[in-house]
Amino acid sequence: MREVGGPLRVETWPDPAPGRDGAVVRVEACGICRSDWHAWVGDMGARIRLPHVLGHEFVGVVEAVGPDVRRFKPGDRVIAPFSWGEGGCPQCRAGAEHLCDRRVTPGFDYWGGYARYVATPSADRSLVPLPDGVGFVVGASLGCRFMTAFHALVDRAAVRPGEWVAVHGLGGVGLSAVQILVTLGARVVGVDIRPEPLARAAALGAAATVDARTVDAAEAVREITGGGAQVAVDALGIAATCRAALQSLGKRGRHVQIGLTTRTGGEAADIPLPVDFIVRQEITFHGSLGMPAARYDDLLRLVAAGVLDPGRLVGRRVGLAEAGGVLEAMTRYETDGVTVIDRYEA
Ligand SMILES: [Zn+2]
Ligand SMILES: [Zn+2]
Repeated sequence: MREVGGPLRVETWPDPAPGRDGAVVRVEACGICRSDWHAWVGDMGARIRLPHVLGHEFVGVVEAVGPDVRRFKPGDRVIAPFSWGEGGCPQCRAGAEHLCDRRVTPGFDYWGGYARYVATPSADRSLVPLPDGVGFVVGASLGCRFMTAFHALVDRAAVRPGEWVAVHGLGGVGLSAVQILVTLGARVVGVDIRPEPLARAAALGAAATVDARTVDAAEAVREITGGGAQVAVDALGIAATCRAALQSLGKRGRHVQIGLTTRTGGEAADIPLPVDFIVRQEITFHGSLGMPAARYDDLLRLVAAGVLDPGRLVGRRVGLAEAGGVLEAMTRYETDGVTVIDRYEA
C-alpha cells in the first residue's frame, strides 16, 4: 500500500530477518478483512505508515527464529493472533492482553500477511501453534472475525442455549457469529439488506432472517422473538445497524457492539443512541474487541474437532495480486463471505 485508497501493488522486497525475540513466518494464507479496508481508506489515520503491507489474519510456517524465542522453531505451523499483548502491562497481567496498553497489531503496526514472509516481534507472544487438524485456509478464515465473534458471544454476552440472538450485519464477523451461536444452541435471527448473506445465515442454521430493506428490522426481530431478543449484535458499526440492534432487544437485553464506525461512512466514532429505551428496558451495552490470545487454544480445539468450521464462511480464494480488487469490492459491499489469499507466487 503506497497511498491511502490507492491501488495496492505487488512489489519485491528483500526477505526479512527475525529480531532477537522475533520470528519470520512463511505465509501460506491470509484473510482479507474489512479492518484492512478501514486502514486502506484512511480510517486509522497516521497509525498506518506508508509504504505499508496489510494483513492481520495470516497463518503459515515458521521459517526462522531469533535466539531468544522459546516456544517456536523452524517448521512449526502457526497462526498470528490479531490481538496479542506484550505481557507486562496491567491489562496483560489481568489476562486482557487483547486490550494491552502497548498493543501492536500485525498488518497495522508492523507489516503483515499480504506478503510471503512476515517478521513478527515477540514471537512467543505474537504467534500461537496451529493444530495439524486445521488447514491453512481454514486457519486464515478464523481471521479476526471468528475469534472476535467467539469472544463477543461467549465471554462478553455470555449467550446461553435457547436464547434469541439477533445478528445485525452479516459480513464475515456476522456470519461467524451465526455459526458460533447455532453451535451454542441459541436461536438466531440474521439481519441484512443483501440476499446472499441472508441465504448464508439460513444455511448456517439461523432460525429466521430479516431483510432490512423491506421491513423495520427491530420491529421484525421483536415480532419473531415474541417481544425482543435476549442478545443483539451489531456486527457492522453504522448508525442503522447499531440502533436497530439495540431496539430489537427485549427487557434486560444485552447489546454487543463488535462493528467499529467508519470516518468515511459519516459516523466517525459517534452514533446517537435511544437512551430512554436503554434505561427503561435496562439494556446492557457491551463493547467487544478481538479476543485474548490465550483463548485461541480453546477456539482452535473446537475447530480441529470439527465442532466449529470457519472454512464454511470462505467465499473466495485469491492470489496476492487480486487483494486490491477485493478491497475495492468492499467499498461497494460486494464481497460475499470471507476472501482468503492462498497464492503468493509472482
Ligand atoms: Zn500489555
Ligand atoms: Zn480482520
